[in-house]
Amino acid sequence: MATDNKLRHVTSMLELPSPADQNSALHAVILGEALASEENDLVFPSDEFARQAHVSSPQQYLEMYKRSVEDPAGFWSDIASQFYWKKKWDQPACSENFDFRKGNISIQWFKGGLTNICYNCLDRNIESGNADKIAIYWEGNDPGFEDSLTYSQLLDRVCQLSNYLKDVGVKKGDAVVIYLPMLMELPIAMLACARIGAVHSVVFAGFSSESLAQRIVDCKPKVVITCNAVKRGAKAIHLKDIVDAALAESAKNGISVDVCLTYENQTALKREGTKWQEGRDVWWQDFVPKYPTTCEVEWVDAEDPLFLLYTSGSTGKPKGVLHTTGGYMVYSATTFKYAFDYKPSDVYWCTADCGWITGHSYVTYGPMLNGASVVVFEGTPTYPDAGRCWDIVDKFKVSIFYTAPTLVRSLMRESDEHVTRYSRKSLRVLGSVGEPINPSAWRWFFNVVGDSRCPISDTWWQTETGGFMITPLPGAWPQKPGSATFPFFGVQPVIVDEKGVEIEGECNGYLCLKSSWPGAFRTLYGDHERYETTYFKPFAGYYFTGDGCRRDKNGYHWLTGRVDDVINVSGHRIGTAEVESALVSHPKCAEAAVVGVEHEVKGQGIYAFVTLAEGEPYSEELRKSLILTVRKQIGAFAAPDKIHWAPGLPKTRSGKIMRRILRKIASKQLDELGDTSTLAEPQVVEQLIELADC
Ligand code: ATP
Ligand code: MG
Repeated sequence: MATDNKLRHVTSMLELPSPADQNSALHAVILGEALASEENDLVFPSDEFARQAHVSSPQQYLEMYKRSVEDPAGFWSDIASQFYWKKKWDQPACSENFDFRKGNISIQWFKGGLTNICYNCLDRNIESGNADKIAIYWEGNDPGFEDSLTYSQLLDRVCQLSNYLKDVGVKKGDAVVIYLPMLMELPIAMLACARIGAVHSVVFAGFSSESLAQRIVDCKPKVVITCNAVKRGAKAIHLKDIVDAALAESAKNGISVDVCLTYENQTALKREGTKWQEGRDVWWQDFVPKYPTTCEVEWVDAEDPLFLLYTSGSTGKPKGVLHTTGGYMVYSATTFKYAFDYKPSDVYWCTADCGWITGHSYVTYGPMLNGASVVVFEGTPTYPDAGRCWDIVDKFKVSIFYTAPTLVRSLMRESDEHVTRYSRKSLRVLGSVGEPINPSAWRWFFNVVGDSRCPISDTWWQTETGGFMITPLPGAWPQKPGSATFPFFGVQPVIVDEKGVEIEGECNGYLCLKSSWPGAFRTLYGDHERYETTYFKPFAGYYFTGDGCRRDKNGYHWLTGRVDDVINVSGHRIGTAEVESALVSHPKCAEAAVVGVEHEVKGQGIYAFVTLAEGEPYSEELRKSLILTVRKQIGAFAAPDKIHWAPGLPKTRSGKIMRRILRKIASKQLDELGDTSTLAEPQVVEQLIELADC
């Protein structure tokens, strides 16, 4: 019976036709327009795709999934055995306490096993014949600047830096802060730390000196690795100045850093004129290349920390998420392989920066553990024009392209010609992450970018989860645009009501996870209590994700946004994602963000910020037509009470809409906007305030 319970939320998919059973005329056809609701909107992988996929039918998935939840230790041990372990873990492979009522929360995978993730990414792949395979294709900000490294060249560079770090006194367990743009030196620095057992903390190189200082004070690194400058679009940004300010600020808080290793990023700026603190600042190029290209591996326990990474801060003060080595290694590699149906001949490009978890798990570790060729892009996807992504795709013959809904929406605003003038025929699989992808953005991505032949993996996960949690396996089952579909192996999502009671079947509620998975984070750095309070106390016995989720009649999961953002209109609980998707489906709407505001009669009313497609003028008629679209698609109860024209939306630097600021603007609490330093473009806030009464 326990088994049935575990499988209940996925077995309903069996009632769906398997992709292989479909009449081929149906394949890759979007039935959306013809059907009543998006829930019935099925998009099938082609026969050809399904046949070659790692998992090619719901039945095959279910067999694997069943084992993964009935015997997690056995399932993951078999996969872990494909990696190199200096010493195998002690049994059992997993031990956990997921219930705070039984004592401290603790999660351990492969404890006692000795391994090294850098060894598994590089040496292991080189030994198995991939020495001359390209590990990184690098594309600079300005077209024409490019570089590449094979796996063996990458290992040489990593070893030189590892040796340098050891020489300046970095030891196993020491923290190293990396504040670099997307140069090849960024993954090199991550891998070099991992090789010697140092704990890296990458800080996105768009953060201000205050944010960087905050993180330096929190993790007290021996070394900070940065570069003199970076070009973003046409502008050169002096990163070293930001680091100097952050180090001065940290020193005031009693934290002084021994070494600031600075890479001279010549494509942006020559070193002359860089402010320098003798004794602390060191040019990378003057020292690192002199070190030997071999470096012994530090074998670490599976549960030794690998990295510390702060969440993107959409909902408040960032949390220092700590990941350990063994479980994270196995999980990031396995999720990468299955969710993108990765094959050794693929060329893979993820547009995320290594400053976010996506860049950790799916630019560096996941792909390199699989021996993949990875594109690392320094620039912005719309520079010099909106066709840049497809130019890069054609140039490197990218076959797997992984990005965020915010980029998809911004490219949709521009003419399709930016896409269609490139061939894109190498593309095979597309991916999305970061926010729910609106069905209309999904369709544009699928039809225009993927020429209606590439499945889209809409991957739901978090910094905390280390890897994908709910995601399509692209050849295994039909997709529904806007749904992240089903749980990955070993993941048991449950939807609970306000009291924490699990709800069965079709439902809507709080998304929780039952029992651990290897990639789970182990603590919040230096604050285990906050870890327990934030994630494990809201619903006893579960990990609480903070997100809302709806499960439909076929068992598909639809993320409805963060539960703090859920709007309660006259007793109807409405997810922000649903109203936003309805608005974005209007042909003249490029982007939308909705928040709740106090309403005398309804309790809460819906307040919508709307960005129009390029060149569309604001008008009363358009306002009415937008409201009508929501009424038609969701119902009169979800109709926005107010449409606020927005030339842009406040977003985190990872591209997510920051609704807490919009809530303050909507309720006119302008003196309570709070910390706006993590915003990508803080000036957007002023523009919005000016347009409040238009
Ligand atoms: P903070 O926790 O500091 O507020 P954050 O949650 O934005 O920041 P991340 O860990 O980068 O930081 O983001 C994870 C969140 O992003 C998820 O909890 C979810 O809300 C959203 N998300 C990510 N991928 C998807 C997806 N495919 N569909 C829907 N939502 C997604
Ligand atoms: Mg979060």
